[in-house]
Amino acid sequence: MLSREPTLSVGILEGYADFRGHLEGVFALNGGKRVDGPFTCSIRDNSPHIVFGSGEAVADLPDVTLSPVSPETSFLLEDVTIGVKFHWERKEQQRFRGGLRIVLRPGKGFTAINTVALEEYLASVISSEMSASAPGELLRAHAITSRSWLVAMLERARLVHAPLQPFAPITPETTEVIRWYSREDHDMYDVCADDHCQRYQGITKIISPAAAGAITSTRGVFLVHDNAVCDARFFKACGGLTDDFPNSWEETDIPYLRSIADAAVPHPPITTEGEMERWVLSSPEAYCNTRDPAILRQILPSFDQETTDFFRWHVSYTREELEALLRKKAGVDVGILMDLVPLQRGPSGRLIRLRIVGTQRTITVGKDLEIRRWLSPSHLYSSAFIVRTERGDDGVPLRFILYGAGWGHGVGLCQIGAAVMAVRGFAAEDIVRHYFRGAELRKAY
Ligand SMILES: [Zn+2]
Ligand SMILES: [Zn+2]
Repeated sequence: MLSREPTLSVGILEGYADFRGHLEGVFALNGGKRVDGPFTCSIRDNSPHIVFGSGEAVADLPDVTLSPVSPETSFLLEDVTIGVKFHWERKEQQRFRGGLRIVLRPGKGFTAINTVALEEYLASVISSEMSASAPGELLRAHAITSRSWLVAMLERARLVHAPLQPFAPITPETTEVIRWYSREDHDMYDVCADDHCQRYQGITKIISPAAAGAITSTRGVFLVHDNAVCDARFFKACGGLTDDFPNSWEETDIPYLRSIADAAVPHPPITTEGEMERWVLSSPEAYCNTRDPAILRQILPSFDQETTDFFRWHVSYTREELEALLRKKAGVDVGILMDLVPLQRGPSGRLIRLRIVGTQRTITVGKDLEIRRWLSPSHLYSSAFIVRTERGDDGVPLRFILYGAGWGHGVGLCQIGAAVMAVRGFAAEDIVRHYFRGAELRKAY
């Protein structure tokens, strides 16, 4: 357990050949010269060329640190891509408080990193993840969850120094691809600013008094299990049941990350394809089973309101579309796609392994995120789906329709469910104990 507030480094942008920004106040350039105002970063003769103002200062070192001289100072970055590779990718101007580090690596472009205190980072994350009008107990529950997740992740990253091994390539002989994604793949900073870690937009939006209050009132409070801070994962909507940790990641049983029914009534885990079919084609009672626009508006930032069909959803592909997706996303040409066969599911119905049957080859894919990646131009909402195949007279598929449940990996706290619980009067402590069974709350600083 930690005893004082940590500082984080957050990757804001990466792989940019050039970018612009604005220092709103005075910063010390590599601990020396004072700079402020607009700046541009570009690459000249394989070296960085960072120009401040109209040329008052130029930096050409591959690692530049800008430290704020006073605490209220902030800086702007232009054209920051958010929602990278997700279905809502877009670019925004963003504003940050704290320090800025700009690194140029040969052949890899610029990385911009914001150094910020944990509680300040959390205030921003809570403001970015949900709207200011969200119920106070939801904001408090999310503050505790995000804080715990983050510190558990930092502690794990410190313990595990080995760089991630690259995935084995898919060759014509490959018959099974089982992948999951850890977040230890950031070697330059602790967390990225995107949904891969936690969405972070600095102080782009004004941090609401509600979000600030949720952070202050839970300052230093963590979910704890067995004397260690909990790896408190979360996602948008479970679809009625959450899932077990090993079904999305490595084969480690984590007691507080086991499947639960996200409802006031019991729902048994899904164990057969028949149960899955009935589950996904029905609308069971669940905290996250809401289409109430008033609740959704309170919870989701405006761009997430574009998505309202997260509890039960469907997507339809022609056979040719799906064959092309598999070639593009997985580099796999199955010939004529004949079948998608669920082989193994978790208790929430999320697929762990899916067999893809073609005339030229058959390949099995897992886990959750890899399945979602292969079967969508961006990512499928979840891997909790059944497949309806429409076939021509010759038996060859014409169309595949996927009927699914939930949005996200389904392990840990269901954000929509937690929001509905808060609206129904549950306290933050009850909400986090509902999703993280067996975890306790402890104040560390
Ligand atoms: Zn990340
Ligand atoms: Zn849920």
